[in-house]
Amino acid sequence: MLVIEKKKEEVVKVAKTIYKEKLVFGTWGNVSCRPVENRIIITPSGIPYPDLQFVDMVVVNMEGDIIEGRWKASTELPMHLAIYQAREDVGAIVHTHSPYSAAFAVVREDIPVVIEEQAQIVGGIVKVAAYALPGSHELADNVVQILEKEQTAVLLANHGLVCVGKDLEMALQRCRIVERTAQILLHSKLIGNAHILEPQEVEILKRNYLAGYGQKEGVYTQ
Ligand SMILES: [Zn+2]
Repeated sequence: MLVIEKKKEEVVKVAKTIYKEKLVFGTWGNVSCRPVENRIIITPSGIPYPDLQFVDMVVVNMEGDIIEGRWKASTELPMHLAIYQAREDVGAIVHTHSPYSAAFAVVREDIPVVIEEQAQIVGGIVKVAAYALPGSHELADNVVQILEKEQTAVLLANHGLVCVGKDLEMALQRCRIVERTAQILLHSKLIGNAHILEPQEVEILKRNYLAGYGQKEGVYTQ
């Protein structure tokens, strides 16, 4: 199917981007998308990012059975499948091990809304999912518990970050913004008092962004 072949290229591009931007290192982290119903394209397990090619992508169905591909799927496949099952609006998932987000995940502290782009693109606070072993069904359940409440990003305790979006570009952009927010917030705390934006200020930022950029309603739930 042509759409699947094209999306494989896009998954590779995003995977190489998160590596280049140092949101992941080694073979950690993973990327997936849902190009059509009941088909998920996901990065393979254990292949270094610089070597990734579109033929290495793994295509599975919603049960996790391999439909196409010569490698094993990412070990976080259960988490990706659980998110797609819980959220019909999600078309792509990016999971990073970016250091500033991971620092908040280690202290298990939510990232409140402190900067404009977080309000506009991420849509609100980034919460921490309860700790569970990487790759486990328990981790998948913990992540979905946070994400089913229309969140677009979630921290994995002592692990990293997961962002979702209607497409790969949005999921990637959210990962970048959460990492940048975490970096700014950490530095703010070092300087002194970090001021958290009030919910009504966040609402105004969202509203102005939607009006100014002509985005469709529902951008935060996609
Ligand atoms: Zn991970």
